[in-house]
Amino acid sequence: MIYNVLGKTDIKVSKIAFGSLTMGPLQRNLTTVEGASLIKYAYDQGINFIDTAELYETYGHIREALKYIPRDTFVIASKSYAYSKETAKASFEKAILEMDTDYIDVFMLHEQMNAFTLKGHYEAIEYFLKLKSEGRIKAIGVSTHYVECVRAILRYPEIEVVHPITNVNGLGIQDGSRQEMELAIRAFKSSGGGVFGMKPLGGGNLLASVDACFNYVLDQSDLDAIAFGMQSKAEIDYNVRRVKGLEISESLKNEVSTTDKKLQVADWCTGCGACVKKCDHKALRIQNGQAVVTRETCVLCGYCASVCPEFCIKVY
Ligand code: SF4
Ligand code: SF4
Repeated sequence: MIYNVLGKTDIKVSKIAFGSLTMGPLQRNLTTVEGASLIKYAYDQGINFIDTAELYETYGHIREALKYIPRDTFVIASKSYAYSKETAKASFEKAILEMDTDYIDVFMLHEQMNAFTLKGHYEAIEYFLKLKSEGRIKAIGVSTHYVECVRAILRYPEIEVVHPITNVNGLGIQDGSRQEMELAIRAFKSSGGGVFGMKPLGGGNLLASVDACFNYVLDQSDLDAIAFGMQSKAEIDYNVRRVKGLEISESLKNEVSTTDKKLQVADWCTGCGACVKKCDHKALRIQNGQAVVTRETCVLCGYCASVCPEFCIKVY
């Protein structure tokens, strides 16, 4: 496994971060025991870094895994929508209680957009700084789908880590191109920031071009790590072998590619209809105010996800 230090922190992480969204109730809905078994399997393959969030409801899976994994050998990044001292305190305490840990390695503001949203959440950042001074948070970060946010954090030296969306098609970047995101990431990285990318496979929508997706993120020297959502041991094996540059057997390729995948519309869909217009296969319709997919005609191309303003379509 390749390991990198996250920017100017002293946190050493594996190139692959275990994205835990995909195992939680928003996606595959594994039990805590099933999820912990996968996390432990990944750890045994060299993956020492997990990405979670209050939203994902995977703290229980991580708590279970920590019964096997020595805490000081494992890096946890989590995210919160906190905007005030009170909400920041509640989020942090929920995280440490539910994961049964004394500290969080990287605690992030979730889904930041720009300098204005950062300003609006600054009271939470101040509370995280206090926790950092007490050793209960090691580094403060933000996650974002916006180029503008990655540019804005250059003016906030207290933010040491960014978790931006990055993939070969620029899928999901809300306010610019892949190239603009690369430039913003490079500037932050050059200033000493730590970077771990998200959605290298476009949330599952780019699975048809998995080789191009891997080649792209592995070529990005500014990425200290990349979070891959993983739901099976085969996917872990595939990703680890890919990052290590090892040969991948046909049977493993088949096992990964034959996993039953489907399109899912998150329940925060607003029913705007943009995805319906985009789908040339007429596989989407609005029903009871939300988008609904017809599996028989959906080719899992992912084009609909690229126009969703809420980023609520995923293939997994
Ligand atoms: S584009 Fe997104 S928010 Fe709009 S209807 Fe489709 S899934 Fe829902
Ligand atoms: S993934 Fe492709 S085929 Fe399926 S609903 Fe979206 S645009 Fe249509």
